[in-house]
Amino acid sequence: MTIIDGKKTAADIRAELRVRAAAFEERYHKKVGLAVVLIGEDPASQVYVRNKIRGCEDAGIRSFAHYLPADVTQEGAEELVRSLAADDAVHGILVQLPLPGHLDAERILACIPAAKDVDGFSAENIGRLALHEEGTVACTPLGVMELLRRYGVETRGKRAVVIGRSNIVGRPMALLLLNADATVTVCHSRTVGLAEECARADILVAAIGKPDFVTADMVKEGAVVIDVGINRVDGKLTGDVDYASVSKKASLITPVPGGVGPMTIAMLLSNAISCAERAAR
Ligand code: NAD
Repeated sequence: MTIIDGKKTAADIRAELRVRAAAFEERYHKKVGLAVVLIGEDPASQVYVRNKIRGCEDAGIRSFAHYLPADVTQEGAEELVRSLAADDAVHGILVQLPLPGHLDAERILACIPAAKDVDGFSAENIGRLALHEEGTVACTPLGVMELLRRYGVETRGKRAVVIGRSNIVGRPMALLLLNADATVTVCHSRTVGLAEECARADILVAAIGKPDFVTADMVKEGAVVIDVGINRVDGKLTGDVDYASVSKKASLITPVPGGVGPMTIAMLLSNAISCAERAAR
């Protein structure tokens, strides 16, 4: 059994990103620019934003941090995003979610043009993914594909099962695996016979948000198991997969923490550079 080391893989990717960002700067005489918008004071969001800004510094990407108060108006938030959309120094725009309850997140995100949508959440980018066209793909599922690729996991003709159908993880994950020639099944909260579906998977991706949900009886001997879940139990992080039992059956498995998690920011930075490269073409 091999433990997929997301921390090391993300560090390798970040080293490659520094080279890509520097090459962009040398060629176009400006830095790749990523704008990060944080509205309100949610502590988890503050940590995420701080890490993303640090990631930018580390990769040689210029970050534009914008902090708006929790009581900002809908118009105020949209105005900021529109001004970033019009700014040539900004190649990517990220609005940290969740937003305070009085704001309409969809309308704010709609102010981000698809070409600057580094999270890949826009209808245009999801449509491009569904059509298997070039575009920006959501960072977490993209990170999973990168782990599979770098660990030499064949996807062509393999049975992949994704548990979860959210717009930010499960759905784009299923499309990516389909585009990579896997035979894909998507399971969700209304799936009947979930354990049997999972037990057929050569590649099993869990993105549910329920600690230790995937148990050994749901996993085929030798399967590749990817745990996207991040759950906090008694102050400790744990995934959606019962690692202790499942790791005895899997051929490759991601731990939590240190698996998929570190890949997400690396993919965000990669998306920012790709947006800048596409804009400059
Ligand atoms: P979500 O709540 O939006 O979606 C969860 C999905 O799981 C839903 O589609 C639902 O149908 C499915 N589900 C729920 N209960 C189920 C059940 N009993 N049986 C089968 N399916 C069930 O969550 P999300 O945003 O997709 O995130 C999923 C997990 O991934 C969470 O733990 C989240 O914290 C984590 N996550 C991690 C990263 C990362 O960087 N590693 C990024 C995003 C999300």
